[in-house]
Amino acid sequence: MNIFRRCWCRAFQGAFRLAIPLLPYRRPEQLGDVAELPVRLARRGCGRVLVVTSPSVARMPGTRRLLDALTQEGIGWTLYDRTVPNPTTATVEEALELYLRETCQGIIGIGGGSSLDCAKAVVRAALPHKPLSKLGGVLKVRRPLPPLAAVPTTAGTGSETTIAAVITDAKTRDKYAVSDFPLIPDYAVLDPEMTLSLPPHLTASTGMDALTHAVEAFIGRSTTPDTREDALAAVGLIFANLERAYQNGSDLGARRALLTASFRAGCAFTKSYVGYVHAVAHSLGGAYNVAHGYANAVILPVVLRAYGSAVYPRLARLAQAAGLAGPGADSRTAALAFLDGLDGLKARCGIGNAIPELRPEDIPELARHADREANPLYPVPVLMDAGELEKIGLPRVHTGEYFHEFVTKCGDPAKVLKALDAGGFNLVWTHSLTRRRGTAARCGRWSSPGRTPRAG
Ligand SMILES: [Zn+2]
Repeated sequence: MNIFRRCWCRAFQGAFRLAIPLLPYRRPEQLGDVAELPVRLARRGCGRVLVVTSPSVARMPGTRRLLDALTQEGIGWTLYDRTVPNPTTATVEEALELYLRETCQGIIGIGGGSSLDCAKAVVRAALPHKPLSKLGGVLKVRRPLPPLAAVPTTAGTGSETTIAAVITDAKTRDKYAVSDFPLIPDYAVLDPEMTLSLPPHLTASTGMDALTHAVEAFIGRSTTPDTREDALAAVGLIFANLERAYQNGSDLGARRALLTASFRAGCAFTKSYVGYVHAVAHSLGGAYNVAHGYANAVILPVVLRAYGSAVYPRLARLAQAAGLAGPGADSRTAALAFLDGLDGLKARCGIGNAIPELRPEDIPELARHADREANPLYPVPVLMDAGELEKIGLPRVHTGEYFHEFVTKCGDPAKVLKALDAGGFNLVWTHSLTRRRGTAARCGRWSSPGRTPRAG
């Protein structure tokens, strides 16, 4: 990136950093069980609430438990169970109409990011004379809003802590963000029972989304003591619990820890932002519909390696938080231990390194898109423009790193394993290798990604 643009980006980020203490961020009150919520709402004078969720979540036992607890507390409820992935203005209008017709005084969103975004957008109820399309942008919601509670059913988006809701225009299909401080929920209900039905692959990818929030917030240049503390805590919790929850979805302790991690990572990135991992992941999501958490998981090590030694001291702190390096280790060793640990965690949770849809010829456009999103807003540790983002190693993401050439040279899984072993490579994931020889090229992983094995 040229010097003028570099100065502009850093000046822009500096102004935002100075403003952090002046802005009305607040931390939602954390509750550990849906049954604790009705008392809080009753104290706020809520006689009836609108519960916003999707049809599948509405059938979950945890949702039923919440509705029963509301009734017991004497709070009436109206269920809107028609949210869709990527909520549209039409969905929001429909929920809002119900809110107004039933004279509700509070809103509970239950679900992944989409239902929570829809619930946040219903705050238009506070401004009945303005169309929703006028609420896009920052700082447009000024009046006090009705109490808003968020009950996440995935441990990843952090939407229960953030100021933003992303809504798609039903007609034009344009996405726009409604962003404002009053949209931060008053209550975040981190009830592990609500995440029990999440299948292993979604547990893994949403957990990697939370990990990416924490890592990007921590290594960026706009951290505060609280966001650093939140990010370190989140990283520690994810390394200690993600594999446990992936292996055994009914491990309530691990589920609870991941919800806490996602919440704390959300608090960290709300103030300290994300970085190029998210910018590239968003461009992949837009171009090929790759799931957000999975895209982040694949891109995270690629971008961290592209940042190089500039981020070693911060990665070293993360390595200690994750229990991957002792306090005495030098920063390079500890940082590399973090990168290896990240590869290992991903592999053990069944997440590969490849997005085969990514076509090498699309890389310049994807990089331009990521550049537009990230610069100058994201306070990244190393600035990169579109040309530099093109060179971070995205062609490897198409093939799944070095494995592709290797497996095609040596097709027999037993031979591959033996050769890796003989070469001193620590193979951390052999799952698809032994299962289906043909697709192993995309998923296998060893822990020395910078070296190409000579075996075969
Ligand atoms: Zn994310």
